Amino acid sequence: MKYQTDAKITWCPGCSNFLILRAFQDALFELEKEGQNPKEIVFLTGIGCHGKIFDYLNLNSFYALHGRSIATAQGIKLANPKLKVICFVGDGDCYNEGIEHLIFAAKRNSDIKVFVHNNRNFALTVSQFTAVSPKGFKGSSTPKGSVEEPFNPLELVFSAGATFVARTFTGNFEHLKKMIKEAILHEGFAFLEILQPCITFFDLTNFFKERVYTLENQDFESKEKAQEKIREWDYKNDGKIPIGIFYKIKKPTFEQEFFKPSQS
Ligand code: SF4
Repeated sequence: MKYQTDAKITWCPGCSNFLILRAFQDALFELEKEGQNPKEIVFLTGIGCHGKIFDYLNLNSFYALHGRSIATAQGIKLANPKLKVICFVGDGDCYNEGIEHLIFAAKRNSDIKVFVHNNRNFALTVSQFTAVSPKGFKGSSTPKGSVEEPFNPLELVFSAGATFVARTFTGNFEHLKKMIKEAILHEGFAFLEILQPCITFFDLTNFFKERVYTLENQDFESKEKAQEKIREWDYKNDGKIPIGIFYKIKKPTFEQEFFKPSQS
């Protein structure tokens, strides 16, 4: 199946969103060869630069309100549990506007996949600070520098109950594609943060290249190991940044529990 539409791509030339689009399409080609029916995939977007992917992917889709794609995705999954439901969200869209939906989808283990394009600023609206911008970040709403510290979203979703927690980086294309595929194949709530430098307003390409390393021999079912590695980079320090799967377990999904025949 052809996954690209004919719409003109309006991301800034060189934006790392192109890599996410390509990696997602490549992952879908592989999944289709392995038996995934593209007609049983539906994807959603929120508002932000990431949201433009809505126009470029030839799949069933829903362009949601700001911060509300995860809430809508859960409704779609509940209405038709056969569908693979995938959300593309941005850090501003998901960690600011829609944070409550992220937490509760993780808590329920709703069988949806969340891909966060994290460029650490509200890029579409010419750069305001988000919940994961570093302290001192200078943007159009904080010209003298943000006085707030970022939080660690991986720690948040992990604590809330996510059964798949991973991070990747657009600077490592094969890893990006692999993590997208792994997340799609996970049965349950899958959270994948994609470090995605915004080359126009906040270019962290070199910052990430110097710090990112791939996790090896991670025990996916160990809560202690997951927490240790998730905390290694807390979005405040300048240390190493692990990418890969931190945590992955099997657990009944919200939809399985919801539709389970009553015992009484
Ligand atoms: Fe990409 Fe940043 Fe341009 Fe948005 S503003 S398209 S994130 S480079």
